[in-house]
Amino acid sequence: MTAGHEELCSGDHHRPTMVQESVEDFKAELYQMQNARRAIVQAIISKGIPNESDTGILRNTLAILEDSRTNADSQRLIMSGARSIPINIRDEIIGLKKDIVYLDKLSGESGEFRATEFNSVQLSEILAPYHPVSENRFYEEVEKVVIFLNHFIDKSLPIKPIFITDWDGTMKNYCSQYATNLQPVYSAIGMSEFASRFTRLSAVLTAGPLGIDPTRKNYSPHNREPGIVELTSLPIKSGPITFSGSWGREWMLNGKRVVYDDGIPDEGFDALGRLNDEMTTVLDTDEYSQFKLVGSGVQKKVDRLTLGVQTVFNQVDSDLSAKYQEAVKERMHRVDPSQQILVFETATALEVEVCVHSGTGIVWNKANGIERLLEATKTDLKEGRVLIAGDTRSDIPMVEYSLKENPEGTFALFVGQDAELDKRVRELVGDDSRVCYIACPDVFHAGLATFLSNQDQLD
Ligand SMILES: [Mg+2]
Repeated sequence: MTAGHEELCSGDHHRPTMVQESVEDFKAELYQMQNARRAIVQAIISKGIPNESDTGILRNTLAILEDSRTNADSQRLIMSGARSIPINIRDEIIGLKKDIVYLDKLSGESGEFRATEFNSVQLSEILAPYHPVSENRFYEEVEKVVIFLNHFIDKSLPIKPIFITDWDGTMKNYCSQYATNLQPVYSAIGMSEFASRFTRLSAVLTAGPLGIDPTRKNYSPHNREPGIVELTSLPIKSGPITFSGSWGREWMLNGKRVVYDDGIPDEGFDALGRLNDEMTTVLDTDEYSQFKLVGSGVQKKVDRLTLGVQTVFNQVDSDLSAKYQEAVKERMHRVDPSQQILVFETATALEVEVCVHSGTGIVWNKANGIERLLEATKTDLKEGRVLIAGDTRSDIPMVEYSLKENPEGTFALFVGQDAELDKRVRELVGDDSRVCYIACPDVFHAGLATFLSNQDQLD
């Protein structure tokens, strides 16, 4: 990578100077690549062969992400208006590297694609080196996942189980910028296979927005923030997994977006919509356009806007972040001069939220999201088994709800390195054999692949 800097600075005219991309071009490049991933996943789960042009797009994108514009710490300078800003693209690069090795392994030495044998790929070998603690720990945790899944999937039961999972931090590791937090191919294959073969209902319940179906006609990712259906590489419309956003306030059901807006007054929607439009103008300025790629960016959810104000790597100047937040408040004042409708809240050190005052005082949580899903799909959690997966306290209401409905059949998989949370989940479930706590999403994906491969042998 040092060579790249020399290239930029030495004035060596024999080699072309690499032009920095704009925020928009960078996003467009990655969304185009994600379409290729989606096509690859679709091909593999239909037991077909992915197009070489699609796998080629993954290789080309990796080459671009690793070119001289990215330094050894995975920092890449991109243009935000007239400014050059650093973003961290480690997760994007690693996701592609893992996918390329995975696809190469599927092709085997003969180069002949073995789509029907995707469970035979040793995912652990690819993913273990990235475990936050150690490779040994990775393999130990994978073993725990396999034991847990063997216990969970009881084929003697008359009904298949339900699987409900959070996304970020649980099925997908965190990425510096939500806008390019893209799911790799390898994790979509196992999830899809598990959902369709072993569950009667599988759903993703995330805090982020739902987004717009990227496979629909005239889809354009430009000038808007993406949602989960755009970031995943799983099939969306008729796939085996149902997606939701905004804590389960919006669902993609039978290819259509269904919104549950209980407790949100009309003027709240209106004010939020207008603030979102205002934010588009704010983000078009040179000064603030970098905030499109700071953490959450600007996410419009059913009852709030979530705005990233700092990255996990502390890359944003704190004065600029403060000034940006003032600009947000100023725009709030424009759309809600009496300050009766919208509330500004500091959610974490990395993001703020502008929420609609709920007239009813009801605080919506992910359990409410599950209730809506069950209503819509005319099912309940009382029969058979339920697996709830999450990584933060906001996922606990899902476990509590499931335990209330089905105390003996609820299983919980939690991800992270938070001993307190692990303890809390174990206390709630009250049976260690129905709780699994692992350090990172990849452990689950590798454990799932091993479980699926074992099942192939049994069948
Ligand atoms: Mg999460």
